[in-house]
Amino acid sequence: MSSYDYDLFVIGGGSGGVRAGRIAAGLGARVGMAEERYMGGTCVNVGCIPKKLFSYAAHYAKDFADARGYGWQFPGDAQMDWPRLIAGKDAEISRLNSIYQSLMHKAGVELFHERACLLDAHTISLQSRTVTAREILVATGGWPFVPTFPGSHHAITSNEAFELESLPESILIVGGGYIAVEFAGIFSALGAKTCLSYRGAKLLRGFDSEIAESFTEELCKYSGLHLESNVIAIHEEGTQLRACFDRGDDIVVDKVLFATGRHPNTANLGLDKAGVALADNGAIVVDEQFSTNVPNIHAVGDVIDRVALTPVALAEGQILAQRLFGQGNRHMDYDNIPTAVFCQPEIACVGLDEETARQRHGEILVFRSRFTPLRHTVSKRDEKTFMKLIVDKSTDKVLGAHMMGEYAAEIIQGVAIAIKAGASKADFDATLGIHPSAAEEFVTMRTPS
Ligand code: FAD
Ligand code: NDP
Repeated sequence: MSSYDYDLFVIGGGSGGVRAGRIAAGLGARVGMAEERYMGGTCVNVGCIPKKLFSYAAHYAKDFADARGYGWQFPGDAQMDWPRLIAGKDAEISRLNSIYQSLMHKAGVELFHERACLLDAHTISLQSRTVTAREILVATGGWPFVPTFPGSHHAITSNEAFELESLPESILIVGGGYIAVEFAGIFSALGAKTCLSYRGAKLLRGFDSEIAESFTEELCKYSGLHLESNVIAIHEEGTQLRACFDRGDDIVVDKVLFATGRHPNTANLGLDKAGVALADNGAIVVDEQFSTNVPNIHAVGDVIDRVALTPVALAEGQILAQRLFGQGNRHMDYDNIPTAVFCQPEIACVGLDEETARQRHGEILVFRSRFTPLRHTVSKRDEKTFMKLIVDKSTDKVLGAHMMGEYAAEIIQGVAIAIKAGASKADFDATLGIHPSAAEEFVTMRTPS
């Protein structure tokens, strides 16, 4: 019997921590866990789940308009009841919090609803007591980053966007990544006059350029867009805010939301006392096995700043717990991770974008399909779908699949299985389509362009 209080102590009850704690306990480890804020972490409380619920809410706006094209008649415009949306979202989050709690309880994990920090490599200080553990997992996630400039404290982040008392009539969203474009779609569809401001020339850096360009065209149909612009000051103006840009112009809005990335949550955790090495951006440095330079201290999820997605944190947590408590030595495979941006229209992709594929594989074939979905021929909604397959010319292997359009996430999840299994373009061609669907385009693109 170990002389430590726990075989594993997990700091952080988010996606990565919960998965690791549950698997470890299932393998017979004595597990303790501290969560200072909310069970389920970012994803459940201020991330994927509330965001997707807001995104569902946003879609109704277009659906109501589309319905008229199909003969539905109803008087006046549909009205958004914001407090009701917030109440529905909060009820679902409370339900999930309880489920996470009981999952931990049933797995035999001892849960502390308090902040934890390290005193040394085996000692954890909780607010209520001090405990020791043979292995320690730091899964403390990330936190929104807002650059500092005059009046930056007036800006909100995605955290506060989920709790606003009322729907703003106008909003400026700063950033060009996942959160910025998702919230631009959400707030605009719910009825706010929306403007997006991004420091670069092209939104969605890291995504396939043509997909990003196609999306930018769509975004401009419902939102203002300032590219190559930076907010340098925010001033209060009555109940509103005036945001000033470096280009000299400014804009007056109800809210300014900064979606300028998230930083690893490593401040005041006692990592220095335990001797854990951090990267320049504060991320915990881990090896392939998720161990730090202190062999019994490990880290997974957003705090290691590799790929900040929930399924990645879950997989990392699971692989670590299985290795620590006797179920093999699997390595995390970061290739072909599918991802979706729940913007409007939705974007999803798996594998390489065109530019990276060209750099890594030389000669490639690119198949494209851009069309108005059947649904919108009658609804008359002005929205295009764009799909793209990237194929290695010499091996015929499909290197990447990209889509902008309705249900992109649902469609790409299936395509990701094929790509992960190493499917060739010939395999895609030999697969019959489901007709009529948008997804069938992925198996009917015949001519590279
Ligand atoms: P977290 O889930 O952040 O968990 C860390 C936990 O540690 C937190 O609960 C925190 O309170 C706790 N903690 C921190 N410090 C301490 C301490 N000292 N003591 C005790 N507890 C502590 N990913 C997707 O895959 N799909 C999406 O659609 C998606 N949408 C997102 C939307 C938004 C707005 C945001 C912000 C993120 C989104 N993500 C999405 C990313 C996803 O939420 C994260 O990648 C994921 O939650 C990371 O899990 P984690 O376990 O690393 O950290
Ligand atoms: P992202 O990294 O996606 O985007 C951050 C944006 O802010 C980029 O456009 C970046 O510009 C810009 N930026 C960074 N620093 C500054 C600065 N100092 N001034 C002005 N602009 C700046 O981060 P998000 O905050 O959108 O999301 C965090 C992570 O959470 C995502 O990377 C993703 O992994 C995850 N997430 C996943 C979602 C999903 O799966 N659907 C949804 C939401 C979040 P530049 O590109 O020029 O660096």
